[in-house]
Amino acid sequence: MINADEALRIILDSVPPVRTEKLKLADAAGRTIAEEVVASQNLPAFANSSMDGFAVRAADLEGASSASSVTLSIAGEASAGKVFAGMLLPGSTVHIMTGGKLPQGADTVVPIESVKRKGKRVAFSSAPATGEYVRLPGEDVAAGDKVVSSGDLLGPAHLGILASLGFARVRTAVRPHVRILATGDELVKPERSPGEGQIRNSTSYALMAHVRDAGGKPEFMGIVRDKVKKIQRSIREGLESDILLITGGVSAGQYDLVRNVLERSAVDIRFHQVNIKPGKPMLFGMFDQTLIFGLPGNPVSTGVTFLQFVRPAIRKMLGRSSLFPSQFTAITDEPLSKKDGKRHFIRGIARGDGGVIRVRTTGTQSSAVLSSLLKANCLIILPEQTSAVPSGASVTIEFFRDPF
Ligand code: AMP
Ligand code: MG
Repeated sequence: MINADEALRIILDSVPPVRTEKLKLADAAGRTIAEEVVASQNLPAFANSSMDGFAVRAADLEGASSASSVTLSIAGEASAGKVFAGMLLPGSTVHIMTGGKLPQGADTVVPIESVKRKGKRVAFSSAPATGEYVRLPGEDVAAGDKVVSSGDLLGPAHLGILASLGFARVRTAVRPHVRILATGDELVKPERSPGEGQIRNSTSYALMAHVRDAGGKPEFMGIVRDKVKKIQRSIREGLESDILLITGGVSAGQYDLVRNVLERSAVDIRFHQVNIKPGKPMLFGMFDQTLIFGLPGNPVSTGVTFLQFVRPAIRKMLGRSSLFPSQFTAITDEPLSKKDGKRHFIRGIARGDGGVIRVRTTGTQSSAVLSSLLKANCLIILPEQTSAVPSGASVTIEFFRDPF
């Protein structure tokens, strides 16, 4: 049996290089960019006004005050998309709208609220600071700035910047195709009423959501009975994907046939069993470029092993810049203990409390309690060598849900 770090290293070392595809910008939200973007131009590209008001030469208004206002004559108008073609001459002003290009000769904008307009003339009763309310070229992004790194998740801000810089298409990582196969004589589809001793397949649905969240493209292959021939046929089909997730049948029971079938299918088993709880029976192998995970069927074990081992692999396949969630230190509200020398992943409920994070467990930690994942927003990680943590002590947690 290997430890969790070693298991992770073996998995990540097996991940094939990132594959990429060009997408239209409109289709790229939520995808991982696979190129570095350096600004080829300034943003904004030209000096423009950040207010509705009057473009002026600040020097013209030197000494203006409420006691002695300065009057300039309106030479024209500049609005967003409509430029004032001429030069702003001393003694004149241009009526300018937000986003309007600053006329040549002007260096400052005075907001409309602080002037008095009389027909073709405008009175200014204070002297503005030079450059006020002007957005300068390159103030947002300067030509040559690196704005997006390869491996970034494309969110609203990235797409906005890319559009501003003229990217109609963007190179992204191909989403790994992840097939999910459920094994178990006891399993029926959610729409069926289970017969005696049967249960509904739940983990496949949880896994599909996990895969999508992690950036992969899930495909459910269905339920297969605990029969060598049947499992073998499904696995053969599953091996054509980027990742095959098989649930159930990896423990040491009489009907746990997955390892046997994988070996017969020429899958190279890289490890079987990890020193963790839950999830110990987990298995990992490779077939050509395909990663194969045998995950224990207990819903909590499946969830934990996915988060700890499959998600980092998907993220590496996407070329994501970070593979793991940030870890935080939290104060435990209850004592925690274990004796088995395994790394434990305990479902926790964390909350902010006056600047510190406090965490409590979801109660019973049986790996069959799916509802514990419903209540939890984090995993409390107890290292192998830890045996007891008193209430009020620090523990390490990883959020798997936004702690809103
Ligand atoms: P196994 O990993 O096959 O030994 O199964 C361990 C436990 O998880 C058993 O109680 C199974 O009934 C349950 N289980 C296995 N697969 C699923 C599944 N797809 N959905 C819900 N429970 C499952
Ligand atoms: Mg089973």
